[in-house]
Amino acid sequence: MRPEDILLPTPAGVCCKSGGFHIDPTRPVDKAVITHGHSDHARAGHGAVLATRETLDLMRVRYGDNFAGSTQEIGYGETVTLGGARVTCHPAGHVLGSAQIAVELDGLRVVASGDYKNVSDPTCAPFELVQCDVFITEATFGLPVFRHGNADVEIAKLLRSVTLFPERAHLVGAYSLGKAQRVIALIRKTGYDHPIYLHGAMEKITSYYQSRGIDLGRTELVREAKKAELAGTITLCPPSTLKDVWSRRFPDPVTCFASGWMRVRARARQHLVELPLVISDHADWDGLTATIAATGASEIWVTHGQEDALVHWSLIQGLQARPLDIVGYGDEDETDGVTETAGPGVAP
Ligand SMILES: [Zn+2]
Ligand SMILES: [Zn+2]
Repeated sequence: MRPEDILLPTPAGVCCKSGGFHIDPTRPVDKAVITHGHSDHARAGHGAVLATRETLDLMRVRYGDNFAGSTQEIGYGETVTLGGARVTCHPAGHVLGSAQIAVELDGLRVVASGDYKNVSDPTCAPFELVQCDVFITEATFGLPVFRHGNADVEIAKLLRSVTLFPERAHLVGAYSLGKAQRVIALIRKTGYDHPIYLHGAMEKITSYYQSRGIDLGRTELVREAKKAELAGTITLCPPSTLKDVWSRRFPDPVTCFASGWMRVRARARQHLVELPLVISDHADWDGLTATIAATGASEIWVTHGQEDALVHWSLIQGLQARPLDIVGYGDEDETDGVTETAGPGVAP
């Protein structure tokens, strides 16, 4: 038994032949196991979809009720047998409902971690370390330059700016699924209890988080507020809207962007960001390398980002390692998701 007999990299994503399914397929397939709700991993149009309840719900929010032929829920710690393979789901700590998928056959275990982070996040279950033989890791921030630091320190910077400039509005660009809700929860953790305003593209997903018991305090829609009321307030919006005419409705806005890419000054300048906030839902270099080592895996498959440095690092550790070169996984930290989350009929 070789790892490739369990999960085989194909152009459509990794495929389990004996279980008859793909994980996070990039094109429509008969049976898909989906790690989380971001649009590059969770696409509409598959025959059957197996995922956590939250991932299925978020796909419904984005694509409507008929996003797949049929659906099946799997909870954290639960095992489902598909063909000859045992499929178990473990928290990935990335966004609400995100899961690592462990696939076992004849005593060999491969873990496809999807996107993950190994730091605490008040809006989702913490990453669970799973011992395995082969670990498939993302590499969005797979370079030693990426060290995200403490998100609470970034939130403190934001709140200090709000205090210093009470006549200005603060616009925080943040991806609509996961990042926006995490930023709100981190702001609430400090005791900030004023209403927090939302761009329309975040309305449904934020309500969904609240319906799952995640306390985000009072949120209001920006389109229902008058310009003068927005002085001294915080609004979450998709990053692309920071440069949009939409931002003109705010009094003298301070533009902020919450992303792991804000570690790179050129990126902040490129987005005309006045206050960069280094907050990421992906593991940084230390997180990636520590996690790889801790899984005990002797073989590492690297996908989804800057693969070379992580493959090189793994080889130096004496592990087998290879890039998967699957095309089609985007980067929600860089793009803003406004088109896929807004949907028809949602006004900004
Ligand atoms: Zn993701
Ligand atoms: Zn991703």
